[in-house]
Amino acid sequence: MGTKNSIIYSIFVIVLIYTLSGCSNTDRLNREQPFERNDFIMGTIVSQRIYGKNAEKAAVKVVERLKEIEESMTVNAPGGEINKLNENSGKSKVILSSDSYHVLKTGVKYSVLTDGAFDVTIGPLVKLWGIYSEHPRIPAQAEIERVKELVDYRDIIFNEANRGVMLKKAGQMADLGGIAKGFGGDEAIRIYRDWGIKSAYVNLGGNIVALGNKPDGSKWRVGIQDPRGLQGAYIAIIPVADKTVVTSGDYERYFEEGGVRYHHILDPRSGYPARTKLISSTIIADKSIDADALSTSVFVMGLDKGMEFVEGIKGVEALFVDENRKIYVTDGLRKKVVFKGDESGYEYIEKR
Ligand code: AMP
Ligand code: MG
Repeated sequence: MGTKNSIIYSIFVIVLIYTLSGCSNTDRLNREQPFERNDFIMGTIVSQRIYGKNAEKAAVKVVERLKEIEESMTVNAPGGEINKLNENSGKSKVILSSDSYHVLKTGVKYSVLTDGAFDVTIGPLVKLWGIYSEHPRIPAQAEIERVKELVDYRDIIFNEANRGVMLKKAGQMADLGGIAKGFGGDEAIRIYRDWGIKSAYVNLGGNIVALGNKPDGSKWRVGIQDPRGLQGAYIAIIPVADKTVVTSGDYERYFEEGGVRYHHILDPRSGYPARTKLISSTIIADKSIDADALSTSVFVMGLDKGMEFVEGIKGVEALFVDENRKIYVTDGLRKKVVFKGDESGYEYIEKR
């Protein structure tokens, strides 16, 4: 082959390689597009954003798994194991699946740790206030006093050997509403991992779990909901990788009467919606089941006790918002959190 020919040949090969690699570049770019899916499960919108091969298949599996969890743990629809447990309170023990048993046990663990600020047997009070009914209402004080007596996590009897569980007194009810979505989030991440996914994000109505980094290697930027703003309006951003960010707030489910907001997070001691001046509490942790239980817990505890409690748990950070629109964070979060600034109408308080 002459020099000229070989030059032409080389150019041809280079063009061919360029074209082919151009193709694969496009493919790669396409693969970087996330697969997204939204579903209504566990009483909330579940949004998944997944990168990489098998994204769609994994998303379907997550939906199936979350529906399964909802079915066994809900107290807001008939059927399911937790309903069965509640129907048999004061009568007989019920054998739970390992899922329900695990979530209930974890609920008790946090009930103990928080000395009952979180109480997994809050069910009768939730029912009394009609929080999940069409007509929530302020109960009479006498009713509150009577029903409050039924709320006591120490009345759950566990039989480790066969996962048999019983609530001691008739009328007692377990309620996993403060923790089950967290378990669901952890299960979603487990499924993503099983499918070889390295980068994904799932939001279960304010319970966010991030797997890995974003595909470009940067962290996921989780917005903290403005408790008095439109849905999606945020007051701060927390960059995370392989973490969960869970928020509890008085804006999620509530009714108003006489200018007072009655929300869905109840103080087992008073029997009323927790009134501690907090309007939202956010927990950042490794496992979503822990973050979910803790966000509800610290909302009931209030700023001072909640802050002290979280500072005592390794690997857990928190952000609190009070009714004066002041934001407080744990020491470990101070350097990481990015505040939106004054225009958000919230003020960051560096030292409490
Ligand atoms: P979350 O949105 O995770 O803070 O959970 C709120 C839900 O947890 C409520 O709708 C109730 O089902 C349940 N709940 C309310 N108050 C408590 C409490 N003090 N301890 C445990 N669960 C609670
Ligand atoms: Mg919770």
